[in-house]
Amino acid sequence: MHDILPERIALWHRLEDAVRGILAGYGYAEIRTPLVEVTDLFRRSIGEVTDIVEKEMYSFDDRNGDSLSLRPEGTASCVRAAIEHGLLVQPQRLWYRGPMFRYERPQRGRYRQFHQIGVETFGLAGPDIDLELILLTARLWCALGLQGFRLEINSLGDSDERLAYRERLLAYLHDHADQLDAESCKRLHTNPLRVLDSKHPQTRQIVAAAPSLMDYLGAETRSHFERICHGLDEAGIDYQVNPRLVRGLDYYNRTVFEWITDDLGAQGTVCAGGRYDSLVEQLGGKATPAVGFAMGLERLVELLELTGHAVDPAVDAYLVAFGDAAQQAAPMLAERLRDAVPRLRLMTHCGGGSVKSQFKKADRSGARYALVLGETELERDVFGIKPLREEGDQRDLGFDELATFLSQSCGRDL
Ligand code: ATP
Ligand code: MG
Repeated sequence: MHDILPERIALWHRLEDAVRGILAGYGYAEIRTPLVEVTDLFRRSIGEVTDIVEKEMYSFDDRNGDSLSLRPEGTASCVRAAIEHGLLVQPQRLWYRGPMFRYERPQRGRYRQFHQIGVETFGLAGPDIDLELILLTARLWCALGLQGFRLEINSLGDSDERLAYRERLLAYLHDHADQLDAESCKRLHTNPLRVLDSKHPQTRQIVAAAPSLMDYLGAETRSHFERICHGLDEAGIDYQVNPRLVRGLDYYNRTVFEWITDDLGAQGTVCAGGRYDSLVEQLGGKATPAVGFAMGLERLVELLELTGHAVDPAVDAYLVAFGDAAQQAAPMLAERLRDAVPRLRLMTHCGGGSVKSQFKKADRSGARYALVLGETELERDVFGIKPLREEGDQRDLGFDELATFLSQSCGRDL
């Protein structure tokens, strides 16, 4: 678990603001759910025989003896909340953000507290909504200036199709059981499809030659999948059909997809999701089709950092004041400036000090301008203004002139 320090926060804001803007542009509404849920919710949704539930959850008994867990992902909570509050009487397009907790082996791109923004839609059964989710994420990468992501998609079929495939896969894996890693051998008896997702090199080789789920899809599932592919073709979005793409959670059916980058080393998946039409019913609601995804914010922030995007300095102007009278007048003058210039980011110097030390702080703040208030400026009812990031002499401006100047040079679109 890590701290996010002020020096990196601008990257987080840039990412979060971009996502929020794009989701608003598609009509998605934010939902906020608790960080803690009863453990059983995750057992029943994610699946008993998954890495997350078997060994990654932070679970504890509360004072009443009920088992609670820090949420390892957001979908289960969204579904619970949607059922509990009767949201499913009409289609819903929801999004959430926040920390998730998994007891994993910490490494680059993999943490025990990490952050996701996720989207869940309910009540929409067709391939059009699956496509919308992918288009929306593609638009986001574009808005963030992130390039070179690979889109992998697959269809896991419906439950009877998956069952037939499961039989076939099991037979194949049994024939090669001596070459599988121990974890995967265990999965043979519990959840053989998860073997397809193994990160173990030798197991991956075996899996590469395994029968493909694609061959077991019925006409309806196949057409659902093909319509998504067709939409992606029309939108000019490249993708690879990866028949081994399953997902680490049990609740998916039909569409699954991942956006992957090669720029982050081993943990290259930045966004992953899929359809989960049976989960709502499984958790006690009335049968409702659903599809969603989640993206890992740490990985995306690291990419933004790697691409070296210029980050806006935190403040536009830094007000220094010399002498008692000026120091006393400074806070109220700064308030008036903030009134006059909407969205101005003005930091006022606090704690007095010499001219030299105050200017040093002004420089360190990253501000574009130092605003200077001394005895003479105060008497003449002006501010000195000195550019800090480019050449230029200090000059005097009256309050209104200064307000106009700052509005024009620091005004930002929000
Ligand atoms: P992975 O294969 O990387 O373990 P996952 O299948 O467990 O991912 P999901 O549960 O679908 O991932 O989560 C969606 C996204 O959240 C991932 O693609 C990744 O970007 C991010 N993510 C998942 N686990 C972590 C973690 N421990 N630390 C940082 N980011 C994570
Ligand atoms: Mg994982």
